Amino acid sequence: MKGEVADDHYASLGLAKSASLDEIKAAFRRAAKEHHPDVSGDLGSVDKFQRASEAYRVLSDAGLRRDFDALRENAQAREKSSNDLSPLRCECCASICAKPRLVIHLQVTSFLVLTRRTPKAAIYCSDCAGSKSLRASVMTWLFGWWAFPWGPVYSLNALFVNAKGGRQPPEINVSVSLRQTLAFLAMQRKDLARTAALQAIWFARKIGPEREEKTRSDLRAFFDDDPLLRQDGRRSDQWGFWNKFSMGQAAIGLMIAVTLAATVEGMLSDRRTPSPSRAASAVQTANAGQVTRKPAYVRPSTTPDGEPWPTTAGYLGSADAASQRGLSNVTVDNTRNSSDVLVKLFSLNAFEPSAVRTFYIPGHQRFTIANVTMGQYEIRYRDLDSGGLSKTEPFRLEERLVPNGREFSNVTMTLYKVQNGNMRTVSIQDSDF
Ligand SMILES: [Zn+2]
Repeated sequence: MKGEVADDHYASLGLAKSASLDEIKAAFRRAAKEHHPDVSGDLGSVDKFQRASEAYRVLSDAGLRRDFDALRENAQAREKSSNDLSPLRCECCASICAKPRLVIHLQVTSFLVLTRRTPKAAIYCSDCAGSKSLRASVMTWLFGWWAFPWGPVYSLNALFVNAKGGRQPPEINVSVSLRQTLAFLAMQRKDLARTAALQAIWFARKIGPEREEKTRSDLRAFFDDDPLLRQDGRRSDQWGFWNKFSMGQAAIGLMIAVTLAATVEGMLSDRRTPSPSRAASAVQTANAGQVTRKPAYVRPSTTPDGEPWPTTAGYLGSADAASQRGLSNVTVDNTRNSSDVLVKLFSLNAFEPSAVRTFYIPGHQRFTIANVTMGQYEIRYRDLDSGGLSKTEPFRLEERLVPNGREFSNVTMTLYKVQNGNMRTVSIQDSDF
């Protein structure tokens, strides 16, 4: 189409559109003088002379000039309207993407008896839609619950809708996708246009088979019966249900649910009278408080194997067979305490921690266990005076080949005592010892 007005006759003669016939004549005479082939030896002048002659022929004839004016106007209008068909941009990050969508996220805020549900609608790229829905959900998590009775109801609903990717009204999104398709076609980006077209079909299918068929046939004209458009448009993409943001929201939800459940469980189990099953409570409470609530601790009169307590540090019962082929040494230093301790070396290398050595260290003494294989370990121990149970930070034993032999670890773990009689480390449950 552009070819029809490629020769802008006004431009050829250097005239404004409002030029009078006299001005046109004068302009042509000037151009003829300058560019006439007989006058100028320049080859480019032939072309310029021909253009000027054609311009004069058209513009000097009132009828031809009117036709030309109309054509020129129409072409300009078409050019302008194709400029207006610029692709839609994400309203958040302003990027152009092949699959923008209009998304509505729900955010709930509550106060006492008032619950307000705010839908937020905008056209987003998938990333921004995800982060906006996450944001709406976090706000709802924080502020949505606190009104009776509708706070929790609306909040749950909003969280569910947001985790699903927000509301995406199909009718509007068919239009949005088609608009983007045309914009990309105008930009000669058929690849992007096709992606947008597939999204249009996908939303049209949600409305119904008739709408889907109409959308497909509308699009077929633009894509020369592209086989892609006859296929199923439901293909996994970054807008899928389980994109990273809904995963994030599900993870947050799960975390909060677990925390709540654990807290409730902890509150309930604290109210129950102490019983053996109590130790199974998932909630780890501070050791100090727990020790005082338990029946007073009495040191057993024998070792776990039924032997009398030894007078020096050493292994208890039959020495543990496991982990004796290694090279590393672990020294447990109990010299800073007056209490005797029952100690277990726990290997953390399997799925569940397991005790690989059991030994006894009187107060003010230390003990070294040898031939421990490399790996991750921790020390768990019972203060035999107070009954308090603790564990050290995990530590690692290394073994590696060096030019003149093997290098291995010598680790010393010092057991400290603090004023109230409990060891300064992490407290543990009976079931963990
Ligand atoms: Zn964006």
